[in-house]
Amino acid sequence: MTERKDRLIQTRVPETLETTLKDEARRRRTTVSQMIRTVLEDTFHLVDDVVANVDMIVSDSVELAQRVGRTARRRAADADAPCGEALPDAADRIAPVQAWNEVVLNQAVDCSKCGAELPRGRRAYLGLCDDPTQVRAWLCASAVEALASEPETGEEA
Ligand SMILES: [Zn+2]
Repeated sequence: MTERKDRLIQTRVPETLETTLKDEARRRRTTVSQMIRTVLEDTFHLVDDVVANVDMIVSDSVELAQRVGRTARRRAADADAPCGEALPDAADRIAPVQAWNEVVLNQAVDCSKCGAELPRGRRAYLGLCDDPTQVRAWLCASAVEALASEPETGEEA
């Protein structure tokens, strides 16, 4: 048996989160510590490899995938990683936009294309649109960079 060099990390969590963690650990027939270790390892492994590849995540567990996937996307946005897989409604939200205006965020928003959270202080792109009934659209920087190589949305071939 190899010598264990694990380190202890403690953190305070609200009671509701503790309950959630205990319930989830019981459901998976594991301990809270082991489950947290697994989630953290998966999350950082995913981010390190910039695996925003949802298919690979889904093969593990759909529920874990959603949690880890969200974290991975959020972290991917932090790292200026490529815009992730397009959301189902991305084309509809982006089609009415006439131009993208670079802004510095004062509030966190989600990329309208991939759903990645763009934090306060980050540069993002606000969709300019004449129609005031349209939901405001946002893009992350890499989505805007990719525009030149994409066909125009909303124009069916
Ligand atoms: Zn994006």
